[in-house]
Amino acid sequence: MSLEALVQDPTIPAESGPVVSAPYNESGFNSSVMTTYGRYPIAIERGAGCNLWDTEGREYLDFVAGIATCTLGHAHPAMVETVTRQIQTLHHVSNLYYIPVQGELAKWLIDHSCADRAFFCNSGAEANEGAIKLARKYAHTVKGIEKPIILTAHASFHGRTLATITATGQPKYQKNFDPLMPGFHYVPYNDFEAVKNAIAELDDGEHGVAAIMLEALQGEGGVRPGDVEYFQQLRKLCDETGILLILDEVQVGMGRSGKYWGYENLGIEPDIFTSAKGLGGGIPIGATLCKSKCDVFQPGDHASTFGGNPFACAVALTVCQTLEQEKLLQNVQERGEQLRAGLRAIASKYPNQIAEVRGWGLINGMELKADIELTSADVVKNTIAEGLLLVPAGPKVVRFVPPLIVTAQEIDKALVAVEKAMATATK
Ligand SMILES: *Cc1c(COP(=O)(O)O)cnc(C)c1O
Repeated sequence: MSLEALVQDPTIPAESGPVVSAPYNESGFNSSVMTTYGRYPIAIERGAGCNLWDTEGREYLDFVAGIATCTLGHAHPAMVETVTRQIQTLHHVSNLYYIPVQGELAKWLIDHSCADRAFFCNSGAEANEGAIKLARKYAHTVKGIEKPIILTAHASFHGRTLATITATGQPKYQKNFDPLMPGFHYVPYNDFEAVKNAIAELDDGEHGVAAIMLEALQGEGGVRPGDVEYFQQLRKLCDETGILLILDEVQVGMGRSGKYWGYENLGIEPDIFTSAKGLGGGIPIGATLCKSKCDVFQPGDHASTFGGNPFACAVALTVCQTLEQEKLLQNVQERGEQLRAGLRAIASKYPNQIAEVRGWGLINGMELKADIELTSADVVKNTIAEGLLLVPAGPKVVRFVPPLIVTAQEIDKALVAVEKAMATATK
């Protein structure tokens, strides 16, 4: 099929059958790719909208979306058009030159958030590295803190680089990778007294708390929303002390919560925040955003070869504009309510297995009871057998993060699959 035909008729990939129809040779893959992931025995070949097809022609409803990343689903016509146009025009030049579409993307993000400035990189971890560097430089140059400390939360997730596994308050991600980065300290999430106590304890004239870095809703940690009162108290404390409030919006941002940014659900504004996952709709891009008072970077302080290249920025700008044009925030709110209502109805049929259903917009978790053997991985295995892809968020929480274009019928279809999966699990 010619590229032109693909662009002109975006329905073509959805209607044509799978290209290959054979079981995938997993052992060949496993002998050449490092075994850093536990993979499901499925090889995905093609996608359209919220559907995926594997190499054996099986169809799946995709409520993983590349882990909260494929904002517009798969093969969205607007993305196909932009990718095609941009690769034919200009895909990469480096930041030695002005990249107009990078400026346009920054402008869109600033116009639709509390930020004044943006720096572009390639992933969530890298966006958080940028935020950490920014906060440390601010501490040294503005606040005069010799050894700045960043508070982060237990059960948080901030990425897999050395600084971000240190920031991540979960020992399982840090094991065997020590020595970890100095300058981090953990507090329980949604506990304001713990933050106040830590600030007082850590300040010894040399060390001092420079920033508090949190997720507005903890994603990997089990889909746990932040408390409004907690975040408002933190904001006030930060205003009074000059400590920076950094929000990691990598998973909950970019419309997933039903608002553009997770912090909008908490009635506060961060000083610095980060974005990645949903920003490029599946094309790698990350961003560190901040208020102008925190923009202490000067030429040479921070950089990324690929960061903000024309290709990634053009696609991300298309994702942003499509969110707006297709009124997807409203869809996220409505479909999220529909999903939670449906999951709660299932929970009422399985009171001994399901403890709680919670979330914002289209980031939702179904938590299983702690005192039973059933795990989130068991439930996910069963839903996959029913043609529904889901992903755990920890051992007891099943996570639902479909593309933001998901329809009411697709939500209903997913609920049927979850109900069948629960029936199988409790047989
Ligand atoms: C996924 C995630 C990251 C890491 O993003 P990568 O692109 O994998 O580096 C950081 N923070 C949060 C909240 C995430 O969900």
